[in-house]
Formats: sequence, C-alpha cells, structure tokens
Amino acid sequence: MSEERSLNFIEEIVEEDLAAGKNGGRVLTRFPPEPNGYLHIGHAKSICLNFGLAKKYNGQTNLRFDDTNPVKEDVEYVDSIKEDVKWLGFEWANELYASDYFDNLYDFAVLLIQKGLAYVDDSTAEEIAAQKGTPTEPGKGNQYRNRSVEENLQLFADMKDGKYPDGAKVLRAKIDLASPNMLLRDPLMYRIKHAHHHRTGDKWCIYPMYDFAHGQSDAIEEITHSICTLEFVPHRALYDLFIKELEIFPSKQYEFARLNLNYTVMSKRKLLQLVEDGFVDGWDDPRMPTISGLRRRGYTPASIREFCERIGVAKRENMIDVGLLEFCIREDLNKTAWRRMAVLDPVKLVIDNYAEGQTEILHGENNPEVEGGDGSREIPFGKELWIEREDFMEVPPKKYFRLGIGTMVRLKNAYIIKGESVVKDADGNITEIHCTYIPESKSGSDTSGINVKGTIHWISTEHAKEAEVRMYDRLFQVEDPSNEDGDFKDYINPNSLQILDKVYIEPDLANAVAGKPVQFIRKGYFTLDKNSTAGKLVFNRTVTLKDGWVKK
Ligand code: ATP
Ligand code: MG
Repeated sequence: MSEERSLNFIEEIVEEDLAAGKNGGRVLTRFPPEPNGYLHIGHAKSICLNFGLAKKYNGQTNLRFDDTNPVKEDVEYVDSIKEDVKWLGFEWANELYASDYFDNLYDFAVLLIQKGLAYVDDSTAEEIAAQKGTPTEPGKGNQYRNRSVEENLQLFADMKDGKYPDGAKVLRAKIDLASPNMLLRDPLMYRIKHAHHHRTGDKWCIYPMYDFAHGQSDAIEEITHSICTLEFVPHRALYDLFIKELEIFPSKQYEFARLNLNYTVMSKRKLLQLVEDGFVDGWDDPRMPTISGLRRRGYTPASIREFCERIGVAKRENMIDVGLLEFCIREDLNKTAWRRMAVLDPVKLVIDNYAEGQTEILHGENNPEVEGGDGSREIPFGKELWIEREDFMEVPPKKYFRLGIGTMVRLKNAYIIKGESVVKDADGNITEIHCTYIPESKSGSDTSGINVKGTIHWISTEHAKEAEVRMYDRLFQVEDPSNEDGDFKDYINPNSLQILDKVYIEPDLANAVAGKPVQFIRKGYFTLDKNSTAGKLVFNRTVTLKDGWVKK
C-alpha cells in the first residue's frame, strides 16, 4: 500500500478545519447513494474517499440512502449497496434514509414560504423552462411568483393533501431569475408525484428535489464535510443558500472529479439497460464494472481500495485506464493466490518409459511468493497426462522452449521429459504425444545434470477433474462508448466472453471456494463462480498474468 503520499486537497481542507477548531474537532462524512441500481467502481472511489477520510481523522461516516425519487428505487438495491460497502471493508456509523426527513423537509419548505422565499407555480414544465431564459438572457417571472404567503401556504398544504394531479403545481424557491447560475433561477423544491415509495408507502404525494433534500439532510445529520462529484459545483450556491435561510447546521460541500474508466460505462441507467436487454448475466456479471461484478470476477476488496488510493483525488475530470485496475488485482493476487494447475486446451501426453498403472504423489508449493512459504499440496502424477496443446510443436522453431520432438522440457513439480513421437487422426490433428522421462530429474532431488529452459504444466488424466472456464475480455471495444456516435450498446465487444467447457484441473481444486482466487500456473488468476455445482465447477478468469491487451 502506498502509505506515504502527500495530502489530497480534501485532506488539506479537513486539516485546516481541525487546526481552526471547526465543528469541535469532529469529522463526519456521508456516502449518499440513490438506491436505483447496484454500486459501481466509481462509487467505490467515493466510498473509499468518504470512509477513508473519516477513518484517518478519527471521524465517522453515515450511510444515507438518497431515496427521494420513489419511482426508480427499490429495497433490492438498498440491500446490495449495504453488502457492497461492507465487503469493501467499511463500517458506517448510522444507516439513514433521506425519506426519514420528509417531515422535516416539509417543515423547512413551509418556513421558506413564510419568509417569502418560496411560491407555488401552476406552470407546466415547458412553460417554466421557457421562462427561465438562457445563460445570456435573464429569465422572466410569471403571475404565480407574486402569490401571497397565505395563498402559497394553502396551496402547498393542498399539494401535500393530494388535491392536485401529477405535474399540476410545483413549489419553487424565489431567488433570482437573472442569476448567471441557472440553478438559482427559482429552482423547483417540490413536485407532485402520486407514487408508492419503498419506505414511506403512500404517505406522500409530493417529493422534494435533490437540491431541497441533500443539503438539508446533511445539516440534519450535522455532516461536516459533504463530498460529491464536480457536476454539483453549480449546486453549491443553492446548498449554502437553503442552509443559511433555514438557519440549520452549516454543512459544507466539496467537489472532486468523478472516476471515469475506459472500455466500460458507469452510469446506473446504462448499466440497467445492459442488464434488462440481456447483454450481460445480471448486475453481477463478471464483465460489469459493478462492485458485485468485480467481486464475482475475483477482485478483492484490498485491490479495489488500492486502485482508489492510486488514482488519488483530482479536481479535474480524466479517464483512468482499466489497466491500472488490472495491475492492482494482479499485484494483490500474486502475493495471496495459491498456485494450481489447469489445462485449458488439453492434448494427451503418454510417457512411454513410465510404468503402467503407477501413481506418484508429488508436491507443489501453494505460493512461492510468500516468504517462508505458504504450505504445499499433493499432486498425483502418472503415465498419462494432459498438457496444453500450445505447449507442443512437432517441429519447434528456434527459441521455442516448450516441448517438441527431440527437445526437452520440465513438467512443473515433476520430471524432465523428451518428445518422441505423435499420433494423429485422419485429419492430421495430433491426438497423442509420446515422450520419455528422465527418472533422476525429479523436482527437488534432481541429479540428472540436465538444464532445460522451459517448464510446462500438466494434469494426470486419471486424477483430472473437469471444469468450465469463462474467459472475459473488455465489455466494450472502444475506450469511451458513451462518447461515440449512436447508441453505446453498438460498441459492445462481441467476444467479451469465451467459454471453455472442457478444462482439466488438478484434483485439489475441488476444494476451491468463491472469493478465494487461485493462479492457474502460466494462465492467469481465476475464481470459482456461483454457477458451480458439485458435478461441474465453473471458474471465472479474473485477470491474465500479464497485460496482453492490444488496442484495436
Ligand atoms: P450514476 O450516474 O452512475 O448513476 P450517481 O451519481 O447517480 O451515479 P448516486 O447513487 O447518486 O449515483 O451516487 C452516490 C455517490 O457516489 C455520490 O456522492 C456520487 O457523487 C458518487 N459517485 C457516483 N459516481 C461516481 C464516480 N464515477 N466517481 C466518483 N464518485 C461517484
Ligand atoms: Mg444520482
């Protein structure tokens, strides 16, 4: 972990605040997801930032569901969000819901009406938009803007009591129709929506807008540092204004650049389309940039936290290469994943001078990268083995260090062998390779004096278990599918999933568990998929051993 680094700009602000004795030395952040989809790697950035900051300064973080839009929200999403935050390794101080503040927010709105700072407008959405002006022209008011406080109070109460249909009226803040900040041109505070809410049921038919809910929710919780992404910069004026007029706790908003990752899309709306249109196998499809997808793919919480740490906290938008995420998981798994053998594209190898029916139990280290070792496992060896088709060439070219006729190679954790002959089918495909082994060359007690350049992996045919292996590639063919002509879905990589349905794995892999990735020696890192059954294990490729992506 990169422990020693300079402070990011938000840490600088927090340290200044602490030094100035602000908020009584208290740091309270919040992570405020809208429960309208599963969390993605962008949210992980926000989670690491909010929870990380609180942790560093002995503070706390609230998990607040920003559930002010009844239509798109669901408990399924609430549950998945909680699971993902916990899995990433963070604990929230309080689980809260913006909808729990609906009564407070209603009272706040009444207070602003009483102060002459809010009014009920009967205009349609189109009329309001047309009256707003443009960035270079001031907006125009309408007759509703001059309604009396009494009339506004009555109309707002009637809105709440369900006397009007959706869209008939809105409550707007009376601020400044000529403001250069368009958001200050009498923004909407409440709209009518006769919709069932996943928590408040049918109690409400008016719902507050983001700008009239977020800052107030922060203030109610006495959040000290409210961190959000750059698109909220223009909202800050409104955030501060409502807090000032309502004379509530002065929470402060700070903005950082959202995480953009190439070869994927991150908006929940787009991810939902991929799920609903069947382009992927659910929100947790291992190709998705969701936390649940990354988890199923074999990513570890530590690797995601490290990634978020490495990208830092920027003030300007940029695009992060997914290669960095892959680098982080590779680094982590290199240190932690056990090594096992799996033959993805098998061809049979027969050792002519090895006794028929004999089995030897050999040993292989679990992880040679761990200092002092990480234990070992037993690997059965016999006369017939599976090896990788690509590890043999009948006529090996120069610098081919694997097996060829007349050339030698070491079988990992076993013996040195020499290629002798092949058996082919009618089409000329090799069906069997014959070799001889050097009995004195056993790994660990090699007295043969022979040096070979290559080592290949293998599985005893008698002891092999069969598995399905899913090889994933990038979900999109272009770096920024959202910024291309046409629909982002036109840029899906048609080869993002390749299924190998007859892979041989060493018997010890029968003990594999999801969430504990293994390295298939020379092939990459893999993890057990939830689709596995006792009869058929399914493995997902988490990442290759080296970065092999070629830009198209
Ligand atoms: P999306 O646009 O992907 O649907 P959102 O911003 O609508 O995301 P929210 O549930 O509202 O999603 O976000 C919760 C928190 O996560 C917010 O504070 C938001 O700023 C932050 N967040 C969302 N996407 C990113 C991102 N790509 N990078 C960093 N933070 C993000
Ligand atoms: Mg949002």
